[in-house]
Amino acid sequence: MRIARSFSELRTLLPRPGSCPLWLVPTMGALHDGHGALIDQAKSEGGFVAVSIFVNPLQFAPGEDLDRYPRTEAEDLAFLDKRGADLVFLPSPGEMVPKSARIRISSGRIGTIYCGASRPGHFDGVLTIVLKLFHLFSPDVALFGEKDRQQLFLIQEMVRDLALPIRVLGLPTIREPDGLAMSSRNRYLSPKERDTAAHFPELMGEAARLWAEHSGHPSKDPLSIPGWLSEALVRAGFRVDYVALADRQTFLPITGGPAPDQAYLLAAVFVGSTRLIDNLELSAERPGV
Ligand code: AMP
Repeated sequence: MRIARSFSELRTLLPRPGSCPLWLVPTMGALHDGHGALIDQAKSEGGFVAVSIFVNPLQFAPGEDLDRYPRTEAEDLAFLDKRGADLVFLPSPGEMVPKSARIRISSGRIGTIYCGASRPGHFDGVLTIVLKLFHLFSPDVALFGEKDRQQLFLIQEMVRDLALPIRVLGLPTIREPDGLAMSSRNRYLSPKERDTAAHFPELMGEAARLWAEHSGHPSKDPLSIPGWLSEALVRAGFRVDYVALADRQTFLPITGGPAPDQAYLLAAVFVGSTRLIDNLELSAERPGV
C-alpha cells in the first residue's frame, strides 16, 4: 500500500491519468466497518482504490470535538492494508487548509438546515475539502456513505452544479448488531450511554413502520411521525437536536400538504455530550428497516 503525506508525494504515487479507473474514499479516519464497506465496494469493481484520511478542521464549529476527534493512524494503516487499499493519503492540516486560505464552497440553502442548522458552516467546510480532494485525485468514482445522507446529497449537488467529471456513489449504512449506525464517534460512548444509543435505531425503525401504517389510512397523519419520534427519543433518554422529514428529490423539509409515499426520515440526537445521526428511507409500501 502506497502512503502519501503531501501533495507532491501524492502526484508521484497516483496511477498515470487514464491508465486505470481511480476510486476515491474520503474519510476522517478512526476507521470501522462502515468505511470498510466503501473500500470493499471499490475493491470489488477493480481499479485503483485510494483512501484519504483527514480530520477536516473546516467542518468543526468552535466548541465542537475537533481536538478530541479520534486519531488512530497506526490502526487505520493496518486496517487499510488488510482491506487491500492501494494508496492512503494523509495530508497535513497546513497543506490542506493553509492559514491564508479564505475561499469556501457555499452549500446553499440545504447546507443551512437539519445538521447545518446546529452546525453552521459545517457543510461549507465539508464541500470545500471534498472539492480539494477531487482536484488532487481526479477520481473516476468517489464513494460516500448514506449514513451522512445530507452530506451525500450536497456532494451530489456540488458535482452536478459544478459539472465535475466524477461519479458519486452512495452506499447503505453499516450497523452494529443492535442496529446502531457505525460511527467513529461511537467510541465516545460510556457503556451506559451505549445502551441508551441502541434505542435510537430502534425508534427510527418504529417510526418507519408507523409511516407505512399511517400512509393511506384515512384517519392517521404520516406527517405527525417526527413529533411522535421526538417525544419517544426524549422518553428514551436522548436530547433531540432535530427530527425531520425530507423530500427524496429536493431534500427540502416536508412539513405540510398531503404526505408523499416516500421520504427521508432524518434525525440527530445527543447521548450525554456525543452527537449521533441516523436516517431511513420511508416508504408507504414497506417499513424502512
Ligand atoms: P467519516 O470518516 O465519518 O467522515 O466517514 C467517511 C465516509 O464513510 C463518509 O462517506 C461516511 O458517510 C461513510 N460512513 C461513515 N460511517 C458509515 C457507516 N456506518 N456505514 C456506511 N458508511 C459510513
